[in-house]
Amino acid sequence: MFARYKILFNSWLALTLSVLFFHPLIATLHDNIIILQWRVQNSLELISVIVLFTVILTVALLLIDKIPGVRLRFALLFCIFIVPFISFFIHFLQQVDYKNALVILGEYAHKNQLLVEIIVTFCGAVFLVLAARYTSKMTHVIIILILILSPLNLLAGWTLWSIWDVNTKIDINTPNLCDKKTHTPDHNLIIILFDSLSYEYLYKNASVSSRYTNFHRLSSISDNYHNALSPGKQTLTAIPGLLTGKSFDNVLMGYRQIYKISKENKKEYLDILSENLFSIAKKSGYKTFLFGSYLPYCEMFDRYLNRGHSFSIYNYAGVETHFSLLSPIMTNLIIWPRQSPQGFIKNIVVSQWQKEQTIKVFKFSMAALDEKNPFFLFTHIYSTHVPLVFDRNGYFDNKEPFLQSAENYTKAVEFADYTLGELIRKMEKNTIFESSEVIVLSDHNNRSMFPGKENHIPLIIKKPFQQIKNDLFGPVHTEGILNEIMKKNSTIKINANPGK
Ligand SMILES: [Zn+2]
Repeated sequence: MFARYKILFNSWLALTLSVLFFHPLIATLHDNIIILQWRVQNSLELISVIVLFTVILTVALLLIDKIPGVRLRFALLFCIFIVPFISFFIHFLQQVDYKNALVILGEYAHKNQLLVEIIVTFCGAVFLVLAARYTSKMTHVIIILILILSPLNLLAGWTLWSIWDVNTKIDINTPNLCDKKTHTPDHNLIIILFDSLSYEYLYKNASVSSRYTNFHRLSSISDNYHNALSPGKQTLTAIPGLLTGKSFDNVLMGYRQIYKISKENKKEYLDILSENLFSIAKKSGYKTFLFGSYLPYCEMFDRYLNRGHSFSIYNYAGVETHFSLLSPIMTNLIIWPRQSPQGFIKNIVVSQWQKEQTIKVFKFSMAALDEKNPFFLFTHIYSTHVPLVFDRNGYFDNKEPFLQSAENYTKAVEFADYTLGELIRKMEKNTIFESSEVIVLSDHNNRSMFPGKENHIPLIIKKPFQQIKNDLFGPVHTEGILNEIMKKNSTIKINANPGK
């Protein structure tokens, strides 16, 4: 009877440690599930890994309990407690609005490493003295702390129960989906969006810098807009605006929905299903393709897509589509803050995510260029956004992927140039480059490098069979231009004046 009670008690502690470790992920599921593009398979993976952790930790706690040496017992208990506790505690501080304080503290620590080392050494020494002097009491403190936090198990259970039915569509493959054609388009429309690509980096004196050979070549046979404005300062506001020909004051990802927020702070569902570039393209007889990260694209444009694939920037399962117990662990680590000590691990995982999803978006886009019917492709390439882990030669192991230095960013733009070159070469191989309308742009500027110019973006438009470079210096609203182009390519009457 006593043994059974002991197993139950230790299982409860073990479950609490598992839940504490996964707190960042569980809290995100509870507050903001939409950003994860969560699927039922991910719920199964998470539950399985929590069960597995609980079993392993229960056995570990029972074994630790049998150790006669009180100090060794404490040391081992501390070891299995500290990682779940930090995972929980730092996220909890963010939840109760200490995020900015943590970021400032992290940046300060990064700049004053000697001071941090002295403080950490001092605290470690004090802790060791206390642990040596009051070992039994300190052991009890840890057990009591775990018990105090254990109601989180119930909250975690409730959260998993309530999100059970969430199954975000992340992949669409309906090659034969077809509207009644009003006419057959005579050329393809290809939009390549590089996230955070800066005009100021790409151009010098109204000419694309010669180090970016593929951008340079495309720009030399295109219309170059030197004062193009994006409808948003961040991805979340800009891209819905670009795809719907509207500009929104603010856009917000709520619990399960995307909202538009007006100047008067009114919150409404962002209804983009009725009129957007894809719906118009579909009605005009185009095959439609959409690939990219960040937004739940497949959910948003579902019925207008022949082929689509979206990635959440937080959910590692997007790049590991098979059932994997590693996915929820990696996702949890991606949600960890980028500052050390957690940042050290997060950066490795998030860099791997960036590598995998960039390659996948690229492959999907390359495959779309093999389409024989007239098509509209919109591809959102994320590698020019942090984490910056690409250079001209492809992926590299960047020790500071979140550092937005000129060196890191130039490398990312060079990789964008390489990507653009590969896409153009594929178009040339399929003899569609000249005849297609090719648009290269960004969703917003690199904000940290160009404050005050967040909306200024590069916009390069090569019309079918264009051979000369045009420079346009007047300010233009990019969402209006995209809207106009789609209108010109269709017979559908659409709103010519983009507005609210
Ligand atoms: Zn962006």
